[in-house]
Amino acid sequence: MAPAAIAPGATIGVLGGGQLGRMLALAAARLGYRVHIFCPERDSPAARVAAAATVADYGDTAALDRFAAAVDVVTLEFENVPPAALERLAAAVPARPGPRALAAAQDRVAEKELMAALGVATAAWAPVESLESLARARARLGGDAVLKTRRLGYDGKGQARIGPGTDLAAAWRAIAGADAILEARVDFSREISVVLARGLDGRSAAWDAVENHHVDGILHTTIAPAPIAAAVAREARGVAVRIAEALDLTGLLAVEMFVTRDDRILVNEIAPRPHNSGHWTMDACLTGQFEQAARAVCGLPLGAPDRFADAEMRNLLGNRIAEWPKWLADPEARLHIYGKTDVRPGRKMGHVTRLRRIGAPRRAEGA
Ligand code: AMP
Repeated sequence: MAPAAIAPGATIGVLGGGQLGRMLALAAARLGYRVHIFCPERDSPAARVAAAATVADYGDTAALDRFAAAVDVVTLEFENVPPAALERLAAAVPARPGPRALAAAQDRVAEKELMAALGVATAAWAPVESLESLARARARLGGDAVLKTRRLGYDGKGQARIGPGTDLAAAWRAIAGADAILEARVDFSREISVVLARGLDGRSAAWDAVENHHVDGILHTTIAPAPIAAAVAREARGVAVRIAEALDLTGLLAVEMFVTRDDRILVNEIAPRPHNSGHWTMDACLTGQFEQAARAVCGLPLGAPDRFADAEMRNLLGNRIAEWPKWLADPEARLHIYGKTDVRPGRKMGHVTRLRRIGAPRRAEGA
């Protein structure tokens, strides 16, 4: 029998205290849930708007046990949570997504092997454990490649570009000799992503595929929907659904992909959580990603992901947050500020979504 829905009034435990947890807490509160944040940082953006917060290390087993006893379900907003922490919580309380989906997203080798098992294309790649294996991988993959740490990479961190003239020893040092993979550099026409939710009943609801522009490895702009052929959008959504099903995931899944110049799709990486490229959904769709995350992890029916406006989401990175008065004055713009006090270059301080209304809500392409 399917587990019973966790009704409004219950407490959703969230691992991680960043802006994703903050926006999840706000959306869940609208549906009548309490959110309890667990993260090591004091005064985190999420804790400021949540009903409760635990400030403790992810390795603090006593704090994890107290957290498990205080919540009805656990989810995450940050995928670099140690697997042991989620496993411990999952033994006491439903964890959605569970440890398996987390493990696949944390390790670039596991991620690539999963795609290969599903017949989903990726960039050519090879595991790298030493300077010697890096040299062998380069010989196999060719001159233009990207070296990425297997674990703990985000926003382009833990990466080194390898060109024909690159000193491999310096590149190996740049990623601090961590276990890594070398990926052939993809000559893509666009980067896109699909964010979907999968409910406890196994049904998926995907938003439109979107186009993403990165600057220095950090997401800068998302254009919704992606200006791509309907067949490419359909395939992208199908790939994302297949991955979610293979992971038997409950919750959200974001799949970042490259579209090649001949319109093939190569999966770059996956994240089993709300995603920056899904922020537009909360202002331009009948159900936004944060509300949908609350619905999915609580076993409620999913909401309609239909879009009622086209959208362009721009991250306000570092000092760009100072532009907030301009966005506030723009009638087509929806402004979100994360309340981070410490402004650092490249830090995600907020975002703005500009809308272009399109009349009646539209089903995502290929749905
Ligand atoms: P990642 O952390 O893997 O998402 O990489 C961050 C960004 O670096 C991506 O969004 C791309 O813009 C770029 N990138 C990563 N891997 C590749 C690749 N194999 N080929 C071309 N560009 C890449």
